[in-house]
Amino acid sequence: MTCVFCRIAAGEIPSKKLFEDELVCAIRDIHPQAPAHILVLPRAHVASLWELEDEALAGRLLFVAARLARAEGLEHGWRLIANTREHGGQEVPHLHLHVVGGRPLGRMLSAPG
Ligand code: AMP
Repeated sequence: MTCVFCRIAAGEIPSKKLFEDELVCAIRDIHPQAPAHILVLPRAHVASLWELEDEALAGRLLFVAARLARAEGLEHGWRLIANTREHGGQEVPHLHLHVVGGRPLGRMLSAPG
């Protein structure tokens, strides 16, 4: 298994999981962009949101992201990000939702860089 997030989900790479069930798991981003920066990912490999076929899994990812935002105390607001494929800036080719918050995040899009 070469996919880093598959290996994290399977426990092959140690991580502090914030949440896990049979469908998804959630970890802290290794390079946080804000005081709270969590990644919610499916256990099974899905390359990106483009390839996602499983509607129940889509719902679970979204629900867990929202619950973790609550658990992190992000009552002032937060952002859910799914960088998708090359133009979307996706770096890790295993679907993941970023839950980012804990500071004002400003406008949604910055210039391409
Ligand atoms: P993306 O651009 O949406 O693909 O973002 C991938 C994210 O995964 C980045 O924010 C990385 O900091 C994060 N990341 C990469 N490797 C790890 C890891 N081993 N544990 C936690 N986060 C990671």
